[in-house]
Amino acid sequence: MKIIVHRGAEEIGGNCIELVSGTSRILLDYGAPLGASPEETVLNIPGLYEKSADPVLGIIISHTHHTHYGALLARPIEPGVKVYMTEIMEDVIRITAKMPRDGKKLPANIHYFRKGHKFIVGRFVITPYLMDHTAAESFAFLIEADGKRIIYTGDFREHGNKAAAFKQFLAAKTGPVDALITEGVQADIEKGPAEQDVMAEIESKLKDRRGALYVMCAGQDIGLLASMAMIAKNTRRFLVVDGYTALLLERVKALAQKQGVDLKIPSLETKFLCIIRNLATQRIYQLSEYNETFVRMRPKMYGWDWVRDNLPRLIIPVRANSQLWVKEQIDDLRGAAFLYSDWETYTEEAGMMETLKWFKARPLEVVPTPSTGHAYFSAIRKLAENKKPRYIIPINTEHQEKFTATFGKRAKVLKNGEEFTLD
Ligand SMILES: [Zn+2]
Repeated sequence: MKIIVHRGAEEIGGNCIELVSGTSRILLDYGAPLGASPEETVLNIPGLYEKSADPVLGIIISHTHHTHYGALLARPIEPGVKVYMTEIMEDVIRITAKMPRDGKKLPANIHYFRKGHKFIVGRFVITPYLMDHTAAESFAFLIEADGKRIIYTGDFREHGNKAAAFKQFLAAKTGPVDALITEGVQADIEKGPAEQDVMAEIESKLKDRRGALYVMCAGQDIGLLASMAMIAKNTRRFLVVDGYTALLLERVKALAQKQGVDLKIPSLETKFLCIIRNLATQRIYQLSEYNETFVRMRPKMYGWDWVRDNLPRLIIPVRANSQLWVKEQIDDLRGAAFLYSDWETYTEEAGMMETLKWFKARPLEVVPTPSTGHAYFSAIRKLAENKKPRYIIPINTEHQEKFTATFGKRAKVLKNGEEFTLD
């Protein structure tokens, strides 16, 4: 089996790995690089945009962060190329892609995979494992072909709201592993606190505060939204979201329910959840296919006067461009606090850095939190000790040296485009 990391070997973002077995070729993720224009995201991979004797059989998407699927939307791919994701992922991408004015369409040839269910693409047998990460759903894959086994972690951590998923992945019998392709976004951080402990501290700090709490939170960070909902409940506050977040929460919950899973996340049934009328809400309202959900959203919509009158009782998640409506509609930051993570890269959603800069420049009490979306190095170490791969290939990282220093010759640091054949 041959491994080619087309992008992401030397940087964070834009992940794309090709696996080749005989004439079978698949891609793992097809992400957009950070800050790239749509055309810049396109990779020149044979068979991806035109018919070919050696076609790309499938693209397997690990999760719904732009850095892992964004390039899919830049230009229509060859219709014969199958795109594999879960039903929840398809919904999240579809809704997210329609948010910008020049809304994008997903490829038509989408096939679903399910947690723990093997599927076959050409000569590859692929098993998806649910991982703990900040996207709505995130998967690692065991990929078998030619008697070789590769694990691709996607993005993961062991200290978040789905910590149990990481434990289950360690316990999974994957057999002898030849190569572990692992993310290393935060490989420079050896160990940090668990999200649960961080949330408990925030809650205790918040108890006596008389002002709004703004929280940096990507639209898809369902885990952080769930934590904020819990804090809102315990401190008798409202959780303020826009139509986009409300729709995502509702869809993720409904689709999980369909599979018999009752997710503990806020939804339109949550009493203290309220929806504001910003641009994102207006945009979402134009998606006629969700009319049924909008009918249920209406009673939870609140005007800006209500928001201004109730500021001390609100928890307000903010993300890319939120500063625009905060400035225009609220402007009163007295007693308010701003919660963000010094460690988080905030790069998985375009425009988050601008928002962070704006809030940091305001006279707000800043509550730094070390909660992060990615694995501390201790988790990567744990995974390597558990799966005992012959080779460890870092991806989605700028900390290759950490891998070489830790794993010696087993660390296989590749360059973008370099081929590596498993013997
Ligand atoms: Zn991610």
